[in-house]
Amino acid sequence: MRQKYNIMYDFLIVGAGAGGCSIAYFLQKSGKKVAIIDREGVAGGASGVAGAFLSPLPGKKNSYNSLVNNALNFSIDFYKKLTPDSIIQKGILRVPNENFKTSKLKDNHIMYEFFDKKKLQEISKSFRNIEGYFYEEGAMISPLEICHKLIDNCDFYQKDLKELKFKDGIYTAEGLKAKNIIYAVGVSKPLIATPYLNISPIFGLRIDVKTTTKVLFNIHKSITISTNRKDNLVAIGATHQRHDGAESECVTSCANCAFYVDNEKQQIEILLKQADELINLENLEVVKIYKGARASIKSYFPVVGKVIDFYKSLEKYPSIKNGTKIPPNLLTYFPNFYMMNALGSRGFVFAPYLAKILSENILNQTKIPDEISIEKLFYKKAREKAKK
Ligand SMILES: Cc1cc2nc3c(=O)[nH]c(=O)nc-3n(C[C@H](O)[C@H](O)[C@H](O)COP(=O)(O)OP(=O)(O)OC[C@H]3O[C@@H](n4cnc5c(N)ncnc54)[C@H](O)[C@@H]3O)c2cc1C
Repeated sequence: MRQKYNIMYDFLIVGAGAGGCSIAYFLQKSGKKVAIIDREGVAGGASGVAGAFLSPLPGKKNSYNSLVNNALNFSIDFYKKLTPDSIIQKGILRVPNENFKTSKLKDNHIMYEFFDKKKLQEISKSFRNIEGYFYEEGAMISPLEICHKLIDNCDFYQKDLKELKFKDGIYTAEGLKAKNIIYAVGVSKPLIATPYLNISPIFGLRIDVKTTTKVLFNIHKSITISTNRKDNLVAIGATHQRHDGAESECVTSCANCAFYVDNEKQQIEILLKQADELINLENLEVVKIYKGARASIKSYFPVVGKVIDFYKSLEKYPSIKNGTKIPPNLLTYFPNFYMMNALGSRGFVFAPYLAKILSENILNQTKIPDEISIEKLFYKKAREKAKK
Protein backbone atom coordinates (compact mmCIF):
# COMPACT_ATOMS: atom_id res chain seq x y z
CA MET A 1 0.00 0.00 0.00
CA ARG A 2 1.16 3.59 -0.73
CA GLN A 3 2.10 5.19 2.57
CA LYS A 4 -0.44 7.65 3.91
CA TYR A 5 2.04 9.99 5.60
CA ASN A 6 -0.42 12.51 6.88
CA ILE A 7 -2.75 10.19 8.70
CA MET A 8 -2.80 10.21 12.47
CA TYR A 9 -3.76 6.64 13.33
CA ASP A 10 -5.53 5.86 16.57
CA PHE A 11 -3.68 2.55 16.70
CA LEU A 12 -0.54 1.19 15.09
CA ILE A 13 -0.36 -2.59 15.41
CA VAL A 14 2.99 -4.30 15.05
CA GLY A 15 2.66 -7.88 13.80
CA ALA A 16 0.06 -9.03 11.27
CA GLY A 17 -0.47 -12.56 12.57
CA ALA A 18 -3.57 -14.01 14.20
CA GLY A 19 -3.06 -11.77 17.24
CA GLY A 20 -2.41 -8.45 15.51
CA CYS A 21 -5.06 -8.94 12.82
CA SER A 22 -7.73 -9.89 15.39
CA ILE A 23 -7.13 -6.85 17.57
CA ALA A 24 -7.04 -4.66 14.44
CA TYR A 25 -10.47 -6.03 13.51
CA PHE A 26 -12.17 -5.17 16.81
CA LEU A 27 -10.65 -1.69 17.07
CA GLN A 28 -11.53 -0.83 13.49
CA LYS A 29 -15.07 -2.09 14.09
CA SER A 30 -15.34 0.40 16.94
CA GLY A 31 -14.60 3.23 14.54
CA LYS A 32 -10.87 3.56 15.23
CA LYS A 33 -8.36 4.35 12.50
CA VAL A 34 -5.98 1.41 12.47
CA ALA A 35 -2.65 0.75 10.73
CA ILE A 36 -0.95 -2.64 10.91
CA ILE A 37 2.62 -3.41 9.93
CA ASP A 38 4.61 -6.59 9.47
CA ARG A 39 8.10 -7.10 8.08
CA GLU A 40 7.08 -10.43 6.49
CA GLY A 41 3.68 -9.49 5.08
CA VAL A 42 0.26 -10.61 6.35
CA ALA A 43 0.50 -13.91 8.30
CA GLY A 44 4.20 -14.14 7.49
CA GLY A 45 5.13 -15.52 10.93
CA ALA A 46 3.73 -18.51 12.83
CA SER A 47 0.20 -17.68 11.67
CA GLY A 48 0.93 -18.48 8.03
CA VAL A 49 2.18 -21.98 8.81
CA ALA A 50 -0.54 -23.08 11.25
CA GLY A 51 -2.71 -26.14 10.49
CA ALA A 52 -4.92 -24.38 11.55
CA PHE A 53 -6.98 -26.62 13.79
CA LEU A 54 -9.49 -25.36 16.32
CA SER A 55 -9.79 -28.15 18.87
CA PRO A 56 -11.39 -28.43 22.30
CA LEU A 57 -9.21 -29.25 25.30
CA PRO A 58 -10.68 -32.25 27.11
CA GLY A 59 -10.24 -33.19 30.77
CA LYS A 60 -11.66 -32.21 34.14
CA LYS A 61 -12.51 -28.53 34.27
CA ASN A 62 -9.63 -26.23 35.29
CA SER A 63 -8.74 -22.61 34.61
CA TYR A 64 -6.65 -23.37 31.55
CA ASN A 65 -9.01 -25.71 29.71
CA SER A 66 -11.93 -23.41 30.60
CA LEU A 67 -10.09 -20.54 28.94
CA VAL A 68 -9.32 -22.66 25.87
CA ASN A 69 -12.86 -23.99 25.52
CA ASN A 70 -14.51 -20.59 26.08
CA ALA A 71 -12.16 -19.11 23.51
CA LEU A 72 -12.92 -21.97 21.13
CA ASN A 73 -16.69 -21.46 21.26
CA PHE A 74 -16.31 -17.74 20.81
CA SER A 75 -13.80 -18.00 17.98
CA ILE A 76 -15.62 -20.66 15.95
CA ASP A 77 -18.76 -18.56 16.05
CA PHE A 78 -16.73 -15.47 15.18
CA TYR A 79 -15.01 -17.07 12.14
CA LYS A 80 -18.30 -18.47 10.86
CA LYS A 81 -19.77 -14.98 10.80
CA LEU A 82 -16.60 -13.32 9.49
CA THR A 83 -15.98 -15.59 6.54
CA PRO A 84 -18.01 -18.83 6.45
CA ASP A 85 -15.99 -20.22 3.51
CA SER A 86 -12.77 -20.17 5.53
CA ILE A 87 -13.87 -22.62 8.20
CA ILE A 88 -14.55 -26.35 7.95
CA GLN A 89 -16.25 -27.83 10.99
CA LYS A 90 -16.42 -31.60 10.77
CA GLY A 91 -15.32 -32.50 14.30
CA ILE A 92 -12.20 -34.12 15.67
CA LEU A 93 -11.49 -37.66 16.84
CA ARG A 94 -9.02 -37.77 19.73
CA VAL A 95 -7.14 -41.00 20.12
CA PRO A 96 -5.65 -41.54 23.62
CA ASN A 97 -1.94 -40.79 23.93
CA GLU A 98 0.63 -40.32 26.73
CA ASN A 99 -0.72 -36.92 27.81
CA PHE A 100 -4.37 -37.62 27.18
CA LYS A 101 -5.03 -41.10 28.41
CA THR A 102 -8.51 -42.64 28.14
CA SER A 103 -9.49 -41.40 31.61
CA LYS A 104 -8.73 -37.78 30.67
CA LEU A 105 -10.67 -38.00 27.44
CA LYS A 106 -13.61 -39.61 29.21
CA ASP A 107 -13.75 -37.64 32.45
CA ASN A 108 -14.82 -34.47 30.85
CA HIS A 109 -16.74 -31.26 31.07
CA ILE A 110 -17.28 -31.16 27.33
CA MET A 111 -19.53 -33.39 25.24
CA TYR A 112 -18.08 -36.28 23.25
CA GLU A 113 -19.07 -39.53 21.61
CA PHE A 114 -16.94 -42.67 21.95
CA PHE A 115 -16.10 -44.37 18.64
CA ASP A 116 -14.91 -47.96 19.11
CA LYS A 117 -12.89 -49.85 16.52
CA LYS A 118 -15.98 -51.37 14.92
CA LYS A 119 -17.71 -48.02 14.55
CA LEU A 120 -14.60 -46.48 13.00
CA GLN A 121 -14.31 -49.37 10.53
CA GLU A 122 -17.95 -48.80 9.58
CA ILE A 123 -17.16 -45.14 8.95
CA SER A 124 -14.09 -45.90 6.85
CA LYS A 125 -12.03 -49.00 6.15
CA SER A 126 -8.98 -46.74 5.99
CA PHE A 127 -8.86 -46.33 9.77
CA ARG A 128 -6.21 -48.41 11.49
CA ASN A 129 -7.05 -50.47 14.53
CA ILE A 130 -7.87 -47.44 16.70
CA GLU A 131 -10.63 -46.08 18.89
CA GLY A 132 -11.21 -42.60 20.19
CA TYR A 133 -13.40 -39.78 21.45
CA PHE A 134 -15.20 -37.61 18.97
CA TYR A 135 -15.74 -33.91 19.68
CA GLU A 136 -18.06 -32.39 17.15
CA GLU A 137 -16.96 -28.78 17.66
CA GLY A 138 -13.48 -29.50 16.22
CA ALA A 139 -12.80 -27.37 13.14
CA MET A 140 -10.07 -26.04 10.90
CA ILE A 141 -9.64 -22.70 9.17
CA SER A 142 -7.64 -21.11 6.36
CA PRO A 143 -5.24 -18.89 8.30
CA LEU A 144 -4.19 -16.66 5.40
CA GLU A 145 -7.76 -15.98 4.28
CA ILE A 146 -8.80 -15.21 7.85
CA CYS A 147 -5.90 -12.84 8.56
CA HIS A 148 -6.47 -10.93 5.31
CA LYS A 149 -10.20 -10.69 5.94
CA LEU A 150 -9.69 -9.41 9.49
CA ILE A 151 -7.73 -6.39 8.28
CA ASP A 152 -9.86 -5.57 5.23
CA ASN A 153 -10.66 -2.13 6.61
CA CYS A 154 -7.26 -1.31 8.07
CA ASP A 155 -4.16 0.10 6.38
CA PHE A 156 -1.47 -2.57 6.04
CA TYR A 157 2.20 -1.69 5.44
CA GLN A 158 5.02 -4.16 4.97
CA LYS A 159 7.62 -2.63 7.26
CA ASP A 160 10.19 -3.76 9.77
CA LEU A 161 9.82 -1.67 12.91
CA LYS A 162 13.32 -0.80 14.08
CA GLU A 163 12.73 2.38 16.03
CA LEU A 164 9.85 3.83 17.96
CA LYS A 165 9.69 7.45 19.15
CA PHE A 166 7.22 8.95 21.59
CA LYS A 167 6.77 12.71 21.83
CA ASP A 168 3.87 14.90 22.96
CA GLY A 169 1.53 11.92 23.20
CA ILE A 170 2.28 10.66 19.67
CA TYR A 171 4.28 7.65 18.52
CA THR A 172 6.28 7.81 15.31
CA ALA A 173 7.38 4.57 13.73
CA GLU A 174 8.76 3.99 10.24
CA GLY A 175 7.14 7.20 8.95
CA LEU A 176 3.75 6.43 10.52
CA LYS A 177 2.10 8.34 13.35
CA ALA A 178 -0.21 6.86 15.95
CA LYS A 179 -1.67 7.63 19.36
CA ASN A 180 -1.43 4.04 20.59
CA ILE A 181 0.80 1.06 19.88
CA ILE A 182 -0.14 -2.59 20.10
CA TYR A 183 2.55 -5.23 19.99
CA ALA A 184 1.61 -8.66 18.66
CA VAL A 185 5.08 -9.77 17.62
CA GLY A 186 5.05 -13.48 18.48
CA VAL A 187 8.54 -14.86 19.03
CA SER A 188 10.33 -11.64 17.99
CA LYS A 189 11.97 -9.48 20.64
CA PRO A 190 10.03 -6.28 21.33
CA LEU A 191 11.75 -2.89 21.21
CA ILE A 192 10.79 -2.20 24.82
CA ALA A 193 11.94 -4.10 27.90
CA THR A 194 9.44 -6.70 29.16
CA PRO A 195 11.60 -8.95 31.36
CA TYR A 196 8.52 -10.54 32.92
CA LEU A 197 7.50 -12.02 29.57
CA ASN A 198 9.76 -15.00 28.99
CA ILE A 199 8.83 -16.18 25.55
CA SER A 200 10.32 -19.48 24.50
CA PRO A 201 9.96 -20.34 20.85
CA ILE A 202 8.53 -23.79 20.15
CA PHE A 203 9.57 -24.69 16.66
CA GLY A 204 7.20 -26.77 14.55
CA LEU A 205 6.98 -28.32 11.12
CA ARG A 206 3.87 -29.45 9.32
CA ILE A 207 3.02 -30.70 5.83
CA ASP A 208 0.25 -30.68 3.25
CA VAL A 209 -0.26 -33.98 1.46
CA LYS A 210 -2.16 -35.24 -1.55
CA THR A 211 -3.98 -38.53 -1.02
CA THR A 212 -6.80 -40.44 -2.68
CA THR A 213 -8.19 -41.39 0.76
CA LYS A 214 -11.13 -39.32 1.98
CA VAL A 215 -10.59 -38.15 5.56
CA LEU A 216 -14.01 -37.44 6.98
CA PHE A 217 -13.01 -35.53 10.11
CA ASN A 218 -9.86 -34.34 11.86
CA ILE A 219 -7.96 -37.03 13.78
CA HIS A 220 -5.57 -36.28 16.63
CA LYS A 221 -3.20 -38.41 18.63
CA SER A 222 0.24 -36.83 19.02
CA ILE A 223 -0.18 -35.08 15.71
CA THR A 224 -3.32 -34.00 13.84
CA ILE A 225 -4.50 -35.15 10.42
CA SER A 226 -7.04 -32.84 8.86
CA THR A 227 -10.16 -33.63 6.94
CA ASN A 228 -9.87 -32.78 3.21
CA ARG A 229 -9.68 -29.03 2.74
CA LYS A 230 -11.29 -26.98 -0.02
CA ASP A 231 -8.24 -27.67 -2.23
CA ASN A 232 -8.68 -31.38 -1.36
CA LEU A 233 -5.28 -31.50 0.36
CA VAL A 234 -4.86 -32.92 3.85
CA ALA A 235 -2.78 -31.14 6.49
CA ILE A 236 -0.61 -33.18 8.85
CA GLY A 237 1.12 -31.56 11.79
CA ALA A 238 2.83 -30.51 13.72
CA THR A 239 6.12 -31.33 15.41
CA HIS A 240 7.21 -29.58 18.63
CA GLN A 241 10.79 -28.63 19.41
CA ARG A 242 11.33 -26.41 22.41
CA HIS A 243 14.01 -23.72 22.08
CA ASP A 244 14.18 -22.79 25.73
CA GLY A 245 17.68 -21.39 25.75
CA ALA A 246 17.04 -19.08 22.82
CA GLU A 247 18.67 -15.82 23.83
CA SER A 248 18.95 -14.40 20.35
CA GLU A 249 16.00 -12.88 18.60
CA CYS A 250 13.88 -15.33 16.70
CA VAL A 251 13.27 -13.83 13.29
CA THR A 252 10.68 -16.49 12.39
CA SER A 253 12.64 -17.86 9.46
CA CYS A 254 14.05 -20.90 11.18
CA ALA A 255 17.19 -21.28 9.11
CA ASN A 256 18.51 -18.07 10.71
CA CYS A 257 17.99 -19.28 14.26
CA ALA A 258 21.10 -20.40 16.13
CA PHE A 259 19.01 -23.04 17.87
CA TYR A 260 17.44 -24.49 14.76
CA VAL A 261 18.39 -28.07 14.08
CA ASP A 262 17.85 -28.79 10.42
CA ASN A 263 16.28 -32.23 10.62
CA GLU A 264 13.45 -31.55 8.21
CA LYS A 265 13.55 -34.96 6.55
CA GLN A 266 13.46 -36.77 9.86
CA GLN A 267 10.55 -34.64 11.10
CA ILE A 268 8.52 -35.34 7.96
CA GLU A 269 9.17 -39.05 8.43
CA ILE A 270 7.95 -38.82 12.03
CA LEU A 271 4.77 -37.04 10.92
CA LEU A 272 4.06 -39.61 8.21
CA LYS A 273 4.73 -42.52 10.56
CA GLN A 274 2.43 -41.09 13.23
CA ALA A 275 -0.26 -40.40 10.63
CA ASP A 276 0.02 -43.94 9.30
CA GLU A 277 -0.69 -45.34 12.77
CA LEU A 278 -4.11 -43.66 12.60
CA ILE A 279 -5.26 -43.98 9.01
CA ASN A 280 -4.06 -45.45 5.75
CA LEU A 281 -3.57 -42.51 3.40
CA GLU A 282 -3.32 -44.04 -0.05
CA ASN A 283 -1.23 -42.62 -2.89
CA LEU A 284 0.27 -40.16 -0.50
CA GLU A 285 2.50 -37.35 -1.75
CA VAL A 286 3.97 -34.52 0.34
CA VAL A 287 3.27 -31.31 -1.58
CA LYS A 288 4.26 -28.55 0.84
CA ILE A 289 6.32 -28.11 4.00
CA TYR A 290 5.69 -25.32 6.52
CA LYS A 291 7.98 -24.28 9.37
CA GLY A 292 7.58 -21.74 12.11
CA ALA A 293 7.88 -20.95 15.78
CA ARG A 294 5.09 -20.67 18.31
CA ALA A 295 5.53 -18.10 21.10
CA SER A 296 4.84 -19.67 24.45
CA ILE A 297 5.44 -19.03 28.14
CA LYS A 298 5.90 -21.60 30.89
CA SER A 299 2.30 -21.54 32.13
CA TYR A 300 0.91 -21.80 28.55
CA PHE A 301 -1.51 -18.96 29.30
CA PRO A 302 -1.60 -16.21 26.68
CA VAL A 303 -0.97 -12.62 27.78
CA VAL A 304 -2.81 -9.38 26.96
CA GLY A 305 -2.99 -5.86 28.33
CA LYS A 306 -1.27 -2.56 28.86
CA VAL A 307 2.49 -2.94 29.06
CA ILE A 308 4.12 -2.30 32.44
CA ASP A 309 7.47 -0.53 32.64
CA PHE A 310 9.23 -3.09 34.84
CA TYR A 311 12.25 -1.03 35.85
CA LYS A 312 10.43 2.24 36.52
CA SER A 313 7.75 0.48 38.55
CA LEU A 314 10.36 -1.21 40.74
CA GLU A 315 12.32 2.01 41.09
CA LYS A 316 9.16 3.71 42.32
CA TYR A 317 8.13 0.87 44.66
CA PRO A 318 11.19 -1.25 45.48
CA SER A 319 9.26 -3.01 48.26
CA ILE A 320 7.22 -4.86 45.61
CA LYS A 321 10.24 -7.19 45.47
CA ASN A 322 9.60 -8.20 49.08
CA GLY A 323 5.95 -8.85 48.52
CA THR A 324 4.39 -5.44 49.34
CA LYS A 325 1.07 -5.25 47.53
CA ILE A 326 1.11 -2.18 45.33
CA PRO A 327 -2.09 -2.00 43.27
CA PRO A 328 -1.74 -2.09 39.49
CA ASN A 329 -3.02 1.48 39.04
CA LEU A 330 0.06 2.81 40.87
CA LEU A 331 2.55 0.99 38.62
CA THR A 332 4.25 2.78 35.74
CA TYR A 333 3.06 1.74 32.28
CA PHE A 334 4.52 2.56 28.88
CA PRO A 335 2.16 5.26 27.64
CA ASN A 336 -0.68 3.98 25.42
CA PHE A 337 1.22 0.77 24.77
CA TYR A 338 -0.50 -2.65 24.73
CA MET A 339 0.33 -6.18 23.75
CA MET A 340 -1.07 -9.59 22.97
CA ASN A 341 1.32 -12.53 22.94
CA ALA A 342 2.17 -16.09 24.02
CA LEU A 343 -0.66 -17.61 22.01
CA GLY A 344 1.29 -20.89 21.95
CA SER A 345 -0.11 -23.75 19.89
CA ARG A 346 -3.64 -22.37 19.91
CA GLY A 347 -3.21 -18.96 18.33
CA PHE A 348 -6.30 -19.14 16.16
CA VAL A 349 -8.39 -20.42 19.06
CA PHE A 350 -7.28 -17.63 21.38
CA ALA A 351 -6.82 -14.63 19.08
CA PRO A 352 -10.40 -13.38 18.44
CA TYR A 353 -11.45 -14.05 22.05
CA LEU A 354 -8.44 -12.22 23.50
CA ALA A 355 -8.72 -9.42 20.97
CA LYS A 356 -12.29 -8.78 22.12
CA ILE A 357 -11.12 -8.71 25.76
CA LEU A 358 -8.22 -6.38 24.96
CA SER A 359 -10.27 -4.03 22.79
CA GLU A 360 -12.89 -3.70 25.56
CA ASN A 361 -10.14 -3.04 28.07
CA ILE A 362 -8.66 -0.31 25.88
CA LEU A 363 -11.95 1.31 24.89
CA ASN A 364 -14.08 0.80 28.02
CA GLN A 365 -11.52 0.06 30.73
CA THR A 366 -13.03 -3.37 31.45
CA LYS A 367 -10.81 -5.57 33.60
CA ILE A 368 -8.54 -8.17 32.03
CA PRO A 369 -8.91 -11.54 33.80
CA ASP A 370 -5.95 -12.06 36.18
CA GLU A 371 -4.85 -15.32 34.61
CA ILE A 372 -4.02 -13.66 31.27
CA SER A 373 -2.90 -10.29 32.64
CA ILE A 374 0.50 -8.66 32.35
CA GLU A 375 0.21 -7.67 36.03
CA LYS A 376 0.30 -11.31 37.09
CA LEU A 377 3.59 -11.86 35.26
CA PHE A 378 5.00 -8.57 36.52
CA TYR A 379 4.44 -9.31 40.23
CA LYS A 380 5.78 -12.82 39.84
CA LYS A 381 8.98 -11.65 38.17
CA ALA A 382 9.49 -8.75 40.60
CA ARG A 383 9.22 -11.06 43.63
CA GLU A 384 11.39 -13.70 42.03
CA LYS A 385 14.20 -11.12 41.82
CA ALA A 386 14.14 -10.68 45.59
CA LYS A 387 14.36 -14.41 46.25
CA LYS A 388 17.64 -14.69 44.32
C1 LIG B 1 3.85 -25.55 12.76
C2 LIG B 1 2.78 -24.83 13.52
C3 LIG B 1 1.48 -25.33 13.56
C4 LIG B 1 0.47 -24.66 14.28
N1 LIG B 1 -0.80 -25.16 14.28
C5 LIG B 1 -1.79 -24.49 14.91
C6 LIG B 1 -3.12 -24.96 14.89
O1 LIG B 1 -3.41 -26.01 14.32
N2 LIG B 1 -4.09 -24.22 15.52
C7 LIG B 1 -3.80 -23.05 16.15
O2 LIG B 1 -4.71 -22.40 16.69
N3 LIG B 1 -2.52 -22.58 16.21
C8 LIG B 1 -1.52 -23.28 15.61
N4 LIG B 1 -0.25 -22.83 15.68
C9 LIG B 1 0.05 -21.67 16.52
C10 LIG B 1 -0.32 -20.38 15.84
O3 LIG B 1 0.22 -20.38 14.55
C11 LIG B 1 0.25 -19.22 16.67
O4 LIG B 1 -0.17 -19.30 18.01
C12 LIG B 1 -0.24 -17.89 16.12
O5 LIG B 1 -0.06 -17.86 14.75
C13 LIG B 1 0.50 -16.76 16.78
O6 LIG B 1 0.05 -15.57 16.23
P1 LIG B 1 0.80 -14.23 16.58
O7 LIG B 1 0.07 -13.17 15.86
O8 LIG B 1 0.96 -14.10 18.05
O9 LIG B 1 2.29 -14.43 16.03
P2 LIG B 1 2.82 -14.49 14.53
O10 LIG B 1 1.88 -15.09 13.60
O11 LIG B 1 4.19 -15.07 14.60
O12 LIG B 1 2.90 -12.95 14.15
C14 LIG B 1 3.87 -12.07 14.66
C15 LIG B 1 4.30 -11.21 13.51
O13 LIG B 1 5.04 -10.10 14.01
C16 LIG B 1 5.93 -9.70 12.99
N5 LIG B 1 6.95 -8.85 13.61
C17 LIG B 1 7.66 -9.11 14.72
N6 LIG B 1 8.48 -8.08 15.02
C18 LIG B 1 8.26 -7.14 14.05
C19 LIG B 1 8.81 -5.85 13.78
N7 LIG B 1 9.76 -5.33 14.58
N8 LIG B 1 8.37 -5.16 12.71
C20 LIG B 1 7.42 -5.70 11.89
N9 LIG B 1 6.87 -6.92 12.09
C21 LIG B 1 7.28 -7.63 13.15
C22 LIG B 1 6.46 -11.03 12.46
O14 LIG B 1 6.98 -10.88 11.17
C23 LIG B 1 5.23 -11.91 12.51
O15 LIG B 1 4.58 -12.01 11.28
C24 LIG B 1 0.79 -23.47 14.96
C25 LIG B 1 2.07 -22.95 14.91
C26 LIG B 1 3.08 -23.63 14.21
C27 LIG B 1 4.46 -23.04 14.17
